[in-house]
Amino acid sequence: MLSKLPPALGGDNGLRALLTDLESYLPPKQIDTVARAYQFGADAHDGQTRKTGEPYITHPVAVAQQLGRMHLDVEAIVAALLHDVVEDTDATLEDLTERFGAEVAALVDGVSKLDQIQFRSRAEAQAESFRKMMLAMIEDIRVILVKLADRLHNMQTMSAMPTEKQRRIARETLDIYAPIANRLGINSMKVDLEDLGFRYLYPMRYRVLDKALRRSKGSQRQIVRKISEELGRALASEGIAGDVIGREKHLYSIYRKMSEKKRTLSDVVDVYGFRIIVDDVTSCYQVLGLVHGLYKPMPGRFKDYIAIPRVNGYQSLHTTLFGPKGLPLEVQIRTREMDRVAESGVASHWQYKAEDRADATPQRRAREWLSKLEELQAEDSSEEFLETVKVDLFPDKIYVFTPKGDIMPLPKGATTVDFAYAVHTDIGDRCVAAKIDRTLVPLRTALENGQTVEIVTARGAKPNPNWLTFVRSAKARTAIRHHMRNLRSNESIDLGKRLLDRSLKDLNSSLRKIGKVRMKEALDELGLNNTSELFEQLGLGERLAPLTARMLLGKSENSAENSEPANLVIAGTEGMVVSYAKCCYPIPGDAVMGYLSSGRGIVIHRTCCGNLINFRKQPEKWIAVSWEPEVKREFHSQIQTDTQNKPGVLAEVAATIGDCGSNIEQVEVLGRHDDCSVLSFLLLVRDRTHLARIMRNVRNMPNVIRVNRDCA
Ligand code: MN
Repeated sequence: MLSKLPPALGGDNGLRALLTDLESYLPPKQIDTVARAYQFGADAHDGQTRKTGEPYITHPVAVAQQLGRMHLDVEAIVAALLHDVVEDTDATLEDLTERFGAEVAALVDGVSKLDQIQFRSRAEAQAESFRKMMLAMIEDIRVILVKLADRLHNMQTMSAMPTEKQRRIARETLDIYAPIANRLGINSMKVDLEDLGFRYLYPMRYRVLDKALRRSKGSQRQIVRKISEELGRALASEGIAGDVIGREKHLYSIYRKMSEKKRTLSDVVDVYGFRIIVDDVTSCYQVLGLVHGLYKPMPGRFKDYIAIPRVNGYQSLHTTLFGPKGLPLEVQIRTREMDRVAESGVASHWQYKAEDRADATPQRRAREWLSKLEELQAEDSSEEFLETVKVDLFPDKIYVFTPKGDIMPLPKGATTVDFAYAVHTDIGDRCVAAKIDRTLVPLRTALENGQTVEIVTARGAKPNPNWLTFVRSAKARTAIRHHMRNLRSNESIDLGKRLLDRSLKDLNSSLRKIGKVRMKEALDELGLNNTSELFEQLGLGERLAPLTARMLLGKSENSAENSEPANLVIAGTEGMVVSYAKCCYPIPGDAVMGYLSSGRGIVIHRTCCGNLINFRKQPEKWIAVSWEPEVKREFHSQIQTDTQNKPGVLAEVAATIGDCGSNIEQVEVLGRHDDCSVLSFLLLVRDRTHLARIMRNVRNMPNVIRVNRDCA
């Protein structure tokens, strides 16, 4: 295999070591692909060097090696080799797709996107949110594995960097990356990331601890060897196959024990760690009995993580013994399989599935890993915690930044308006525009993980009922509805008051003439608390004004009215309690009638509208309305045209309508015959005069046969 490589590359920059590792579990064809990816990466990064002075390609190779040790699949290895080419060289995602397939390109793209979001805060809670944001951004768990390996190698080669940068990266590693590795059960990476983070964040403490540990290790060496041999002999005497390993101390965990549990250095350091790895679970318990026979167990220190595994899938028996001269011995006993899972967590699921790729989308594997965890947990109290692992890996939330760098969780599909309401109801109510990553966007724009969102507000701005069609969060929806309700309530109070006053005037009275005392009596009779309630009901059409007027005056329902009923004058500014029927599209100048629709206020129809026939059956619900002489707004109106079937006719008609100062809201082709098309236009017009001018101009066009408006 290696002989096929160009001689110059044979031993280059760790490639040979990488390929040797991979040959233990990948087929030759895939090894070829890896070699090809190396070549591509080396060419792309040609001339670039690391801060350490080495050729740049040594970095991706080291990242790939790390993943090779975890036996990840060929796509992950290739993506690791190429993870920086899109960001740092001329190579594009298209190049990668073409040469190595869409899967590899998607992995590299995922890693680049993670690189683009910056962690800017030091708050504990923010770190937690940021971890969630990162996990939410990845669609393929391998992206985070590449990223973790990338971070690990960067930490390993950080010595040439300025101290400030070292500290920043170290803190980020301890806050973000090590906990993610832990959550995914990848102990090997977690331990290395923590030790390196500790070393660069607290160099002094690290040095002191490291020195003390080395010193004690020197003096402990003899004892460790002696005890290892003793344990080994005990296993052999029972015929149990197994390895005994003197366990290395993990510096950061020692440091944490000292600072959290207030132990002295010697308390923590003078503990001897051993790991015994055997073939099966039965042997684990056998060995436990054996070591408890050999040395006295320390009470209360035995933990059975085989029966009750940790939430990230870790399984092992833990016990502490009184060794020779009373020295504490910490012993872990586990199977090879458990050891593998303990070291590589979610990645261990790639290893024994490497052969069978049929069912193997990456997320599927992550899910399998999770369901395995669930099986292991069985009716244990940590169920809730496991639930959070699942939510983190397969989130239904997205995470975005505020301009200050705070992280805001939102439901998937949330828009800028949801964001505004999440910041504060007041911001939501007054928002008029939004920026995503400093670019203005429409308010309905759906947000994506990692974006920075900024809301522009204006004094006096109000929520738009249309927002209800796109907001996703309960908070936004509730706030908008609440606002609408208030608005409508105010509008209906105004209208109701006018309706009642008008009806009273029909009876030669008025609200003022009624007086407070009579009004109070009437309210009691109706079971209402105040006049606002009465007006609101009247405005919403839930109560009829003429009946209420008679009641206020103490008149029977049948008594004759003194005069012709006065019209209610419509100004077009009544808001939501006066609406215009979509069956006949009334406009100022049309003869109209108002229908009191319970709960909706008044709906205005044209008197020629076909629907009036039905409504006439309830005359008490109809009120006479007329237009205010000057109505200052636009109304929808609908016209139909019959035109010649010629190309460009629609555009010509539209242009003519536009020339008349009207906007076309909607065009519909109602029918198309051999030589004639029937088109329907929904327009915005000011009044009947405006519409008449439009219709005349359209009618005069050469290709237009006929123009009409329903029941005009
Ligand atoms: Mn990198």
